[in-house]
Amino acid sequence: MNIPNQTGFSREQKNYLEGFFSGVAQRAGSSFLGETADGRITNNAGESVTGNKLEEVYGVPIEDLCKEEKIKHEEHGLDVFDKIWEHAEQDKFPEGGDVFRWKFHGLFYVKPAQDSLMLRCRIAGCALLAHQMEGLAEIAEKWGGQYAHVTTRGNFQIREIMPKDSMKVLLHLADLGLTSKGSGADNLRNVTASPTAGFDPNEVYDVLPLARNMHTYILNTREMYDLPRKFNISFDGGGSISVCADTNDIGFLAVRVGEGHGVDPGVYFRVQLCGITGHRQFASDCGLLLRPDECVPVAAAMVRVFVEHGCRTNRKKARLKYLIDDWGVEKFLEETQKKLAFTMGCLPFDECEPRFEIVRHGYLGVHPQKQKGLNYIGVVVPVGFLTPEQMRGLAKISRRYGTGDIRLTVWQNVILPHISDADLETVKGEIKALQLEYTANFVTGGLVACTGNRGCRFSSADTKGHAMKISERLSGEISLDQPINIHLTGCPNSCAQHYIGDIGLVATPVKRDGESVEGYNMVIGGGVDNEQGIARELHNGIPGDELPDVIEYMLERYMAGRERGESFLEFVRRHDIEALKTLFFNHATV
Ligand code: SF4
Repeated sequence: MNIPNQTGFSREQKNYLEGFFSGVAQRAGSSFLGETADGRITNNAGESVTGNKLEEVYGVPIEDLCKEEKIKHEEHGLDVFDKIWEHAEQDKFPEGGDVFRWKFHGLFYVKPAQDSLMLRCRIAGCALLAHQMEGLAEIAEKWGGQYAHVTTRGNFQIREIMPKDSMKVLLHLADLGLTSKGSGADNLRNVTASPTAGFDPNEVYDVLPLARNMHTYILNTREMYDLPRKFNISFDGGGSISVCADTNDIGFLAVRVGEGHGVDPGVYFRVQLCGITGHRQFASDCGLLLRPDECVPVAAAMVRVFVEHGCRTNRKKARLKYLIDDWGVEKFLEETQKKLAFTMGCLPFDECEPRFEIVRHGYLGVHPQKQKGLNYIGVVVPVGFLTPEQMRGLAKISRRYGTGDIRLTVWQNVILPHISDADLETVKGEIKALQLEYTANFVTGGLVACTGNRGCRFSSADTKGHAMKISERLSGEISLDQPINIHLTGCPNSCAQHYIGDIGLVATPVKRDGESVEGYNMVIGGGVDNEQGIARELHNGIPGDELPDVIEYMLERYMAGRERGESFLEFVRRHDIEALKTLFFNHATV
């Protein structure tokens, strides 16, 4: 078993060395032998980490580590695979620190919300193949709850898995060429890429290979599993479809640089750092200008700096943002540079060509690809919920009329690319036959909900259920001509990123007639990319079952009061919060 510490020795090796050296010291009478933090043997007890000094994790004494760090130090999450197997044979759920360690393998014990395991996969670059979609459908059907969810990292989660089936699920994933390794706990989460990478007519660079390189590097590098906290990386190809890269710890954005800027004209990447919208912060440009082949090495170096220097004593301060708040971005880049064999380039952001205009939910519906005669179709998946039949149906369409390529979006929807002009009408019919929509539904297409209390113990409300009620009401009643994003999140962890929604809702218990009911606090006016902004607090304590009425009323007031062609976001940002309260809540039901 390997222990993640600075010495590079496993626990058994360290125990052996300690015993050996103490024995030697005793026999020799007075001399001391120990091991320094960088692995050299010393006779100075003061600089030893194996002799009479406490073990440390990246310079932090064990006693000062936070709970999760102690769990990892005691036994690393990657080293419990055999234990998962044992538990599967005994049909036994993990207990104590093992609940955390199981997440290193993508298995989440989600009691009390559900007395079962949830599987979170990794879908590198949000791209999968038809047979993988079919295999996931089989997992959901045979060993899960007969459904799967597309997540806000363009990934799949499958719930209601019993421990006895956990190894069958992991082995089946491996057969599909997929994995769930490192998808939870303090690890690098699913690496996202623009969902239209490779076929967006406006993209600057096809980023899918970069996302896959990053994914493969993570899977095969032990140090990438020794982070102080979770970490998100995203690659945006600079086209008209967003992947919300500015909500990631590291977001790469493809840009063009023309003549006369001191670098060869061509395609480069900007690097945005420290997006963490649950803490109300977007990633911001750090000044770097990288060649495409430099992106993955730079990301690896940055993660290594975070591994060595991130906070291990306080979970709330353990994200990259807090290290850079502490150090400043210059020091962080200096430390990153020390880990690289090439020199990172810099250029002011405004010397790069402006990015192509982002079309909000511009991927929904039918769109021509950069490949002549081919199209992609964005399919609306309400709150990311798919049945195995729908998954198999989408896979079948993709294989029969496309190339078997399927993309997932961070808005919890699906894209089917490479459909010829001649097959479009047939494919539209087959999508509808699956009870799915391909038309750009301006409410449901932008409706995002986290798991909610049906599957997550942190949630105060049934976010997906309430989102569906909003969708059912508004799809029939309101005719919008522009997309609107409504994000429902069950707790401040903000998996559905309520601060970046046009309307953001975070669950909280609400009193109604003296009874506690599921409800929400509402924020308004958030956005990403070219509409970047953190939503403002608008109204507290809305019962969940009143949301359809409340939001319908808000949208009616917006449609009646907007200036010509004004989007909902422009409308609400034009008004101060008091004016919005009066406008939206004077006559509503709360
Ligand atoms: Fe669970 Fe909170 Fe994440 Fe929702 S936002 S899935 S309630 S942790």
